[in-house]
Amino acid sequence: GKNKKGKESDDVKPDEPEEPVAKGLTDHEKILVGRKKLPVFAYRDEFLEAVAEHQVLIMVGETGSGKTTQTPQYLHEAGYSKLGKIACTQPRRVAAMSVAARVAQEMNVKLGNEVGYSIRFEDCTSPKTIVQYMTDGMLLRSFLTEPDLKSYSCLIIDEAHERTLHTDILFGLVKDIVRFRKDLKLIISSATLDAEKFSSYLDDAPIFMIPGRMFPVDILYCKQPEADYVDAAVVTTLQIHISQDIDSGDILIFLTGQEEIEQCAETLTMRTKGLGARIPELIICPVYANLPADQQARIFMKTPPNSRKVVIATNIAETSLTIDGVCYVIDSGFAKQKSYNPKTSMESLVVTPISQAAANQRSGRAGRTAPGKCFRLFTAWSFKNELEANTIPEIQRTNMGNVVLQLKALGINDLLSFDFMDPPPAECLMRAFENLYALGALNDRGELTKLGRKMAEFPLEPMLSKSVIIAEKYGCVKEVLSMVSMLSIGASVFYRPKDKAVHADTARLNFARGGGGDQISLLRCYTEWEDSGFQTQWCFENYVQSKSMKKARDVREQIAGLCERVELEETSCGVSDFEKVLKAFTAGFFFNVSKLARSGDYTTVKARHTVYIHPSSCMAKDEIPADFLVYFELAFTTKEYMRQVAPIKGEWLTELAPHFYNEADIEEAKKKKLPKARPNK
Ligand code: ADP
Ligand code: MG
Repeated sequence: GKNKKGKESDDVKPDEPEEPVAKGLTDHEKILVGRKKLPVFAYRDEFLEAVAEHQVLIMVGETGSGKTTQTPQYLHEAGYSKLGKIACTQPRRVAAMSVAARVAQEMNVKLGNEVGYSIRFEDCTSPKTIVQYMTDGMLLRSFLTEPDLKSYSCLIIDEAHERTLHTDILFGLVKDIVRFRKDLKLIISSATLDAEKFSSYLDDAPIFMIPGRMFPVDILYCKQPEADYVDAAVVTTLQIHISQDIDSGDILIFLTGQEEIEQCAETLTMRTKGLGARIPELIICPVYANLPADQQARIFMKTPPNSRKVVIATNIAETSLTIDGVCYVIDSGFAKQKSYNPKTSMESLVVTPISQAAANQRSGRAGRTAPGKCFRLFTAWSFKNELEANTIPEIQRTNMGNVVLQLKALGINDLLSFDFMDPPPAECLMRAFENLYALGALNDRGELTKLGRKMAEFPLEPMLSKSVIIAEKYGCVKEVLSMVSMLSIGASVFYRPKDKAVHADTARLNFARGGGGDQISLLRCYTEWEDSGFQTQWCFENYVQSKSMKKARDVREQIAGLCERVELEETSCGVSDFEKVLKAFTAGFFFNVSKLARSGDYTTVKARHTVYIHPSSCMAKDEIPADFLVYFELAFTTKEYMRQVAPIKGEWLTELAPHFYNEADIEEAKKKKLPKARPNK
């Protein structure tokens, strides 16, 4: 039977009264005292015994019990770091960075030395690193350079319950690797009770339970559905803040993304100003993926007396980050989810209702330190009848192109018999093969081509890496690199303060002037900044976010380094010759092309889906619409929007993607340009 270590939760002793903390401790000593108070500490020895005894272990414990920050340190203290690095994967970049920073502090070392992190485009490790936090995607990439992962002694696949695409693929790879690397320790760590499933997948590996301390949480539902959950969250926050005792605890709000979070923060700031001085201070802390590091640190700061903190987060705060002192949770009931339709090959980010399991995780955040309350901004009926029981694993609702390419590069050819915990729909796999074939990465026997092998070297989506590589043919590698880097940073580059909106818009128009759409605007912006000698002053003058630009430069440097590795010459054609640049872009993004329909709307060429130019695009207000547009991505909010669009020529499609488009696809667009009223025959 199963070897259940640890104790069942009813064995937990009631919380002992807080010991008075000795005065005069240094900050680091205080941290050490704190470490010993975490639930996992009581099971330190048992945990290490279990690891010594078993090669594979499933670890389960409530969020905040210390799994992520403590167990890698325990393994290090027990000597495993002498045998190799201890890796701990995280589904999210912010979590990897933030946890690494915390552990470096606990171990009293400089971040990047003994404790470091690796996320895409940012490697904060050194030869000294022994505890390495990394995104699951980065560990996946490590297999390409080190197929047996021999520089590692322990792998912790953390937040396994999140079931991200990369984590799911890792399961298959690590399951294989532990068979021939008997010295490698593998720990699968999860915050929820789906451990049985992990255990049976991993040949009945034992489950190690860390009982958590949980206080009851009152769940309050809305009587009627809320039309605007951001506004409802603001109102609920203010009600709590004004009516509840100031020492009763902090507030955590779950929204879906940066825009909503910023909007919520802004509204809260405005409305609290109007409350007058008698109401205690409300400290507003937003958290989302692209948040600068200094602001990340604010989330964890202890709330000063006579004030309250409100953290406004995406589902990153569901299990990846623990914020102490939260007693009120406000849950919008939504999260941004990737959704993929293999029939149309369309992938987009969609605001989707969360699952019941996720809603319960969220409400649990209110009961870590004291009894709490969770305000669900949806109805009890909706919870019962409209929410799915569990979140569908990402692998079943995503474009598999990138992962298939990487697995092919690892020599895993027969993907249909890969040991998936939950296999992706066959249709998604087939579509990935077809798309990689259309991109030229696979040949007609499904084998990796020379181009495909080069593409796999880049930590980019196949469409982007194809654009970079093909740019050599058009003599514009330098330009495509700059454009791709600007597209990859995923943050807004243009700065538009409300009081200077007119100036900002003029500055932005300057980049768009001359044509070429958003892609070429971004290229002009980067090139001009480069010509200025990367000046921050230039950024101010042109209403451009200097932080985003620096990030783009870092990304660019890394991709350029990889170009050298695959012997791609950094040719240049100059910005004015941007047709070449757009051609290279289209050679990768030909799946994302839409054409002007008679109605004046755009429809995607193959699937004939109606799509709209995103209002933030520099082409949104063009008087003469282009016949064909290539777009970077789709985002579904109120409508299906194309983000980052550029005008192209229809003929390019048959030239650049002959496996995918035929003359008829372009012909039809020409026909549609004929006058609307045609005489009846
Ligand atoms: P788990 O992985 O089990 O959810 P963690 O190891 O992430 O738990 O967290 C344990 C404790 O460490 C939490 O109570 C949290 O307060 C603290 N902690 C984690 N990250 C930070 C950070 N960046 N700054 C301050 N405290 C942190
Ligand atoms: Mg954790």
